Amino acid sequence: MRQADFTVGGLYAYPTFNPHDGPPAAAQVEVVTIDGGGQVTVVVVDPGPKPKHSWQKRPRRNERLQLATRAVSCPWDQWEERAAAEAAEEVEREARVSTWRQDYEQRRVDRVSPDPHRVLPTKYDETREYLSDEEPETLAALVQAYIQHRGLGQRVKREKIEPLISQFPVTIARDIIAALSPPEDCAADSVAAVFRRTADILEDSRISNMSRRGRNRHDYPQRSLIGEPELTFVATVRDHFAATGDELRLPWVPRMPEWLDDEDRVLAETFGWLRVGVADTGGQLIHSVGCRSVNSRSLEHADHIPLWAILVENKRLLCSVCGGPGFRDLVPLAEFIAAVDVWSARNRDSVEPWQRIALLRLIAASAYARAAAEEPEVTLAGRITETLGVAPPGREGWQAYHLLNRSTQTVLDSTDDDDIPTVDEENILALCRTRLTLVEQQLPNTMRPDPLADSANATDIRRRYRQLHDTIEIPGLDRLLFGLPGAI
Ligand SMILES: [Zn+2]
Repeated sequence: MRQADFTVGGLYAYPTFNPHDGPPAAAQVEVVTIDGGGQVTVVVVDPGPKPKHSWQKRPRRNERLQLATRAVSCPWDQWEERAAAEAAEEVEREARVSTWRQDYEQRRVDRVSPDPHRVLPTKYDETREYLSDEEPETLAALVQAYIQHRGLGQRVKREKIEPLISQFPVTIARDIIAALSPPEDCAADSVAAVFRRTADILEDSRISNMSRRGRNRHDYPQRSLIGEPELTFVATVRDHFAATGDELRLPWVPRMPEWLDDEDRVLAETFGWLRVGVADTGGQLIHSVGCRSVNSRSLEHADHIPLWAILVENKRLLCSVCGGPGFRDLVPLAEFIAAVDVWSARNRDSVEPWQRIALLRLIAASAYARAAAEEPEVTLAGRITETLGVAPPGREGWQAYHLLNRSTQTVLDSTDDDDIPTVDEENILALCRTRLTLVEQQLPNTMRPDPLADSANATDIRRRYRQLHDTIEIPGLDRLLFGLPGAI
């Protein structure tokens, strides 16, 4: 109350304690003097109800107190009404808190309850709530859900499951888990349908890290995983950054040779830096780490190379059983594929932060893998590929190739031998010299032989060619050197 509203001898309510299970209590006080400076002196007429707890205080009867005027609630005759209103307000506040608690609890349970039939949310609003930043119980609940939904049994080690999902935002991990064993009747807009590919890649990753004894013979996802949606998604994310003056630079990939298929060239431009795992093999063929026809270390420990190197490789060297090496960094790849599939399912009209982060993290994971292999971004093989890819020889390249490989078993064939023009040997030797010199100029001083003399004969050039094959390992070197149109 304000000081001006008091009268000496008036009766007022001085609130003492709030029992919470009923209206608040007050003492009845009579004003003795109005002291100024926001103070009044009162005498307690009736101390009011007795408190139940020791920390709840009330004054004694006839006690003389000096009170701040704002500590006095109202004239005594208004107190009953005011106390009832305050009690009603308290009840309402408690109901609000209870509803909020129930909602919170419901949401907490919902975040870790996978449901294959859940319709893909129009927005994942928890873009920064990554599982790795959450309470350990949240991760534990989702690990348990993974085990159940995949029917793995309790013997599977939890620490094998954790790295598969801990890098995802919570609700996205939940919806991927729902897709681990999708029911047959799931609708196209259900999370089980949208996250199907992601769930498969996570399972590939889980299997790839098993010890060899437990690992099934299994091929890992290959380049066919990447198509128009993935390429367009990357372009969309790059446009997003460009719109604010930023720039997303993709890791360096050499310019691909002119003879490469358009489809492969486009793939290499955007995704050539992705790492593919190469199986250990004593033979000529190049296999996926999981190929049924070879034994290999686990994907994590096997050798790996950039995807572009497989694209320019002689197709005959790729194993026909597994189709060649598959992708290596499967968890970040799964995150990226999740981003693309959610974007597609939403008619490509919005990209959330977690989806852009997925692309950035895939780039980072590839760089990390490359670093672990002590491989710089720009390699000699890459530079030579770029140099030889420009203006490759036409069909006369076949003659050069045959001239140099005369004494060895020819690896490559042409689809149409009749088409190869006959050019005199002098010109063919000149072509060989030019192409070999182009490669040698890219070599560092320590590796570079003396320049081939113009007078070098076929034997000299052949020796130099074999020497080159022995010194450096360049995927698809013959094709790069000689173009070999129509090679099979
Ligand atoms: Zn194979």
